Amino acid sequence: MGRKDAIKLGMAVCGLGAAAAVLLASGNVARPTAVSDPRPLHGLCTDCGHHFRIEYQDYRKVIEDRREQSARHEPGGQLPGRRPVVLTCPQCMKPSALIADRCHEHDVYFPKYLADGARGRCPRCKPIE
Ligand SMILES: [Zn+2]
Ligand SMILES: [Zn+2]
Repeated sequence: MGRKDAIKLGMAVCGLGAAAAVLLASGNVARPTAVSDPRPLHGLCTDCGHHFRIEYQDYRKVIEDRREQSARHEPGGQLPGRRPVVLTCPQCMKPSALIADRCHEHDVYFPKYLADGARGRCPRCKPIE
């Protein structure tokens, strides 16, 4: 292609870039890297058994709140070990909900990590001994 065409192409690319920048600016994209993991998570209340969805951003917010709290209360400011993040159940409003995983074979939700930090298991794949 000729020089003029190359310039035209360059301008078109610039235009696209500008349009993309406008789109990004208009959306609430504070951290573009976070967009790569927008999947909703699942919560399971260990008290009333309620199962609910939690947006990834909301989950992150909970983690950050916890981190701030522990920074205030603990000199080290570190998150306590591998303890799972406890969520507030939207149904019974108790802080008894854990992040849940789903068994694709049995279509069952179960806590991803138990209160002691151990990995949870599908109760039907692995019956309690
Ligand atoms: Zn509940
Ligand atoms: Zn299973």
